Amino acid sequence: MTAFGQKDFRIQRMMDVLRQKNVASDTVLRAMELVPRHQFLSRAFSSDAYDDSALPIGENQTISQPSVVAQMTEALNLNKGHKVLEIGTGSGYQLAVLCQLARRVFSVERHRSLSERATTLLHDLGYHNFITVVGDGTLGWHQQAPFDRIIVTAAGPKIPPALLDQLAPEGILVIPVGAPGKSQQLIRCTKSLDGHIQQEILGPVVFVPLVGEQGVEERRSA
Ligand code: SAH
Repeated sequence: MTAFGQKDFRIQRMMDVLRQKNVASDTVLRAMELVPRHQFLSRAFSSDAYDDSALPIGENQTISQPSVVAQMTEALNLNKGHKVLEIGTGSGYQLAVLCQLARRVFSVERHRSLSERATTLLHDLGYHNFITVVGDGTLGWHQQAPFDRIIVTAAGPKIPPALLDQLAPEGILVIPVGAPGKSQQLIRCTKSLDGHIQQEILGPVVFVPLVGEQGVEERRSA
């Protein structure tokens, strides 16, 4: 499962940019180096695949910027024993990075077309330690809870309570919070053994809306 051929030097250039931005450890950067980002984009955008920018993936959604993927993955402090929940499968790029670093990843996406495309691509790339489902991720995935780590890749006005409930003791949740079009902050929540939640602000970010029962109302979303 490696990047190959003529794309290689572009991945290396992206890695240099990420190293300069100093957003993640070598472990996270090495995982990203193995994921061929151009395959997660349509032909129209694949030539920009290794720029540090968000790009369209259909359904009015975007693949996250590589430096943001690196920062969020780093904030999760993952290991190979972790069971992870991702909300917002999208292109599947962040999911592939999570698959490299965790034991098993459960990913929820509200758009069936995106979920199906991402699932097929990840299988083709050789990832098998994940399961996807189509649904409202603001409610989490209670049949599979608890999760050691939860990552939300779309921004809602608040942290969905269901996600905090489904976080295991000593678990970490990383989520952008803020109204659509308004300023958003990346938040990391850590749950203590006795269930107490500690919150840290990691910095400003820009994400598409988290649309659902405990997120942005459907009619107000883009
Ligand atoms: N992790 C993705 C980022 C995709 S953008 C990637 O690497 O490409 C965020 C995604 O969240 C979009 O695909 C959007 O459809 C999805 N989304 C928004 N609200 C959601 C919800 N309530 N449940 C599940 N997915 C949601």
